[in-house]
Amino acid sequence: MTGRTHDLAGLTTLTAYITYQPLMTMSLATFIVSFGANMFGSVAPDLDQATASFWRKFPAGSLIGSIVQPLLGSHRLISHSIIGIFTANWLMTLLLGYTHKFLIVDAKIVLFSFMFGYISHLIMDTFTKEGVPWLFPIPIRFGFPPIKIFRVTTDSMFERGVIYPGLMILNGYLIYHNYSKFLNFFTHHIIR
Ligand SMILES: [Zn+2]
Repeated sequence: MTGRTHDLAGLTTLTAYITYQPLMTMSLATFIVSFGANMFGSVAPDLDQATASFWRKFPAGSLIGSIVQPLLGSHRLISHSIIGIFTANWLMTLLLGYTHKFLIVDAKIVLFSFMFGYISHLIMDTFTKEGVPWLFPIPIRFGFPPIKIFRVTTDSMFERGVIYPGLMILNGYLIYHNYSKFLNFFTHHIIR
């Protein structure tokens, strides 16, 4: 899946969380940082790709990318596995522990939001032809549906014309049907 589909899928997990779970109260800073962390988590597993759009956003980014990539193994290995989920959780906890000194946010909510994005990435990739090595280092790639030809090709017409708009509609549907809850969240649960 492309970065923008992953970002939208990550956002969908937040929309679903607000829809189905009791509302949490947080500061505006926590909300903004959590939102960013969710977007970052949604594309983070693909940082093992030197060409990942994330790396291209920085000067020398592709250079850094090509250094990071061999450390993570080739594309879709450790970062796309259960071990990768725990490693990302650990790294993010370390990072938040460090930034806690100058960034006043609720680290639990930020971490949670990041992990939602990260896990949504792996789930979305499971629907692609390449599949996901969930049990890395066991060299088996899992995909759904199990028969490869029924799975999605990255950046295909199906992804752009069905999956992406489908996720948009899902978000719109959840927000529309729970409009008062979303309004309540944005007006009373985000403290400025
Ligand atoms: Zn991926």
